[in-house]
Amino acid sequence: MANELPKRTVRVRLPARDVDQPGRLEDAVRQAVSTGPLGAWRVDRRSLDARKRPVMAELTIHYVHEGETLGPLEQAGQNWPRLPEDAPRVAVIGMGPAGLYAALELVTNGIRPVIIERGGPVRERRRDLVRITREHLVDPDSNYCFGEGGAGTYSDGKLYTRSHKRGDIRSALEILVHHGADPSILVDTHPHIGTNKLPAIIERMRATLIEAGAEVHFHERWVDWSTQSGAVRTVVTESVKDGNRREHLVESVIVATGHSARDVFRMLHRRGLTIEAKPFALGVRVEHPQSYVDRIQYHGEQGDWLPPASYKLVCQVGDHGVHSFCMCPGGIIAPCATAPEEVVTNGWSPSKRNNPFANSGIVVTVGEADWERAGFEGPLAAMEFQASVERAAWLAAGQTQRAPAQRLLDFVNRRPSTTLPACSYLPGIVPVNLHDVLPPFIAEALREGFVTFGNRMRGYLHPDAVLVAPESRTSSPVRIPRDGQSLQHPQLPGFYPCGEGAGYAGGILSAALDGQRVAAAAVKKLKGS
Ligand SMILES: Cc1cc2nc3c(=O)[nH]c(=O)nc-3n(C[C@H](O)[C@H](O)[C@H](O)COP(=O)(O)OP(=O)(O)OC[C@H]3O[C@@H](n4cnc5c(N)ncnc54)[C@H](O)[C@@H]3O)c2cc1C
Repeated sequence: MANELPKRTVRVRLPARDVDQPGRLEDAVRQAVSTGPLGAWRVDRRSLDARKRPVMAELTIHYVHEGETLGPLEQAGQNWPRLPEDAPRVAVIGMGPAGLYAALELVTNGIRPVIIERGGPVRERRRDLVRITREHLVDPDSNYCFGEGGAGTYSDGKLYTRSHKRGDIRSALEILVHHGADPSILVDTHPHIGTNKLPAIIERMRATLIEAGAEVHFHERWVDWSTQSGAVRTVVTESVKDGNRREHLVESVIVATGHSARDVFRMLHRRGLTIEAKPFALGVRVEHPQSYVDRIQYHGEQGDWLPPASYKLVCQVGDHGVHSFCMCPGGIIAPCATAPEEVVTNGWSPSKRNNPFANSGIVVTVGEADWERAGFEGPLAAMEFQASVERAAWLAAGQTQRAPAQRLLDFVNRRPSTTLPACSYLPGIVPVNLHDVLPPFIAEALREGFVTFGNRMRGYLHPDAVLVAPESRTSSPVRIPRDGQSLQHPQLPGFYPCGEGAGYAGGILSAALDGQRVAAAAVKKLKGS
């Protein structure tokens, strides 16, 4: 059996431009393998080293000797069995990455997920996204953050995580491949799916869940719950179409509602469940022509073999960290408000990353002292601080989904922009002095941060670089506490805070992994094991 062979790997390093040249990689692999006659081989891991010119490709090769068989890249056959009629029911609130992976984990363990999602199916969501851009109308239940697939769907689909549990990451990625993602995500050091590919993958995941017997309730907003003997017994939902209420009988509830469900945080607070204000980060999106970023990062080297370049920047300004966030090469700045009367930006890229712009969040850490100084207190203080900046941006740019913007150089030099360069933000941008919109400590930390970044990346302070504000939904401004062992809320048995909204994840992959982990804990409790 191929899988029983010891795993034979070698590392190969060669100029990136040579990788696709006929025979070059094969020659490099032959040279690197010295243990016996080379049989089949394939690339198991791939990354670029762009520290110097020429840009080098670093590849991990999995090979076998002649006469042996190379096992497949993916694990054979994922399987989600049909649930029995009497399977216990667990509510999963929110159908983002955390909710989807939690639901799949429940099915794997014979539990029926009752999925509650305030938005609609993933394709239907598109109409509402177009309305944001064209008509400046934000549907509070269907937008870039809400709806099937969650915030992760019309996002970038970068699948990085700081988690080091390689086995878990691999199996989470394999679930995506099983549902149609390109197997290259199993190989790339910085895997990326792309906004155009994600919806079909999400639809297939939904099909898997429904075939297994999961319930999916679209357009239902979770608004309350009831308890029996002190533990969760039902979840109450309200139809976003006609306001009708429904009660779903369940054994427990996994709350994976994301970082933007402010009504959920308010409900938990109102019902007396402990929640905590949580530090997060806030700033702007900066956009450069992609060609400038490529030139800087690849030291002038150009060619089809090089993907659109990205960057990662971080520095400290006084008490505050300033860092790049969710950099989108070849991307678009997206209008990510979840309610009227606010402006929020974020970024995404299509799978080919072939838009002419590179955008990235550049954000400043916001802590307790900051929101207190701004006059906000209590568990919702960080969220209210965040909302106040989003509203200020909406007011400053004319009370539509147009966003306030300023040329990077003008921002650094504290002068107004009289004109703005072309920008990918489709609702439009309006010249505004961002020092008047952002809280002064954020504007000043950003200004100093940009000067530092300009010294590190020569050319970064480019005359055609533009700032669009605000980038505010970097992570949840609220933490919903949970017990370290059982993963339940300490005050409410059967209530499982999960994913980014609860403060336990930051990004698609980490939210997915947290969904699996929380569902496994819920299964353990139900089965008494
Ligand atoms: C434009 C954009 C680009 C991004 N790019 C990337 C990227 O490239 N890589 C990356 O790792 N991360 C990216 N992110 C962040 C990523 O999308 C989130 O970290 C991730 O989706 C969090 O997953 P989650 O399941 O915890 O929550 P979410 O994805 O936010 O899902 C929460 C779900 O809960 C639903 N919900 C909320 N309230 C209720 C309620 N009361 N009742 C019923 N349902 C409710 C929402 O409709 C939503 O579907 C991006 C985000 C955005 C907005």
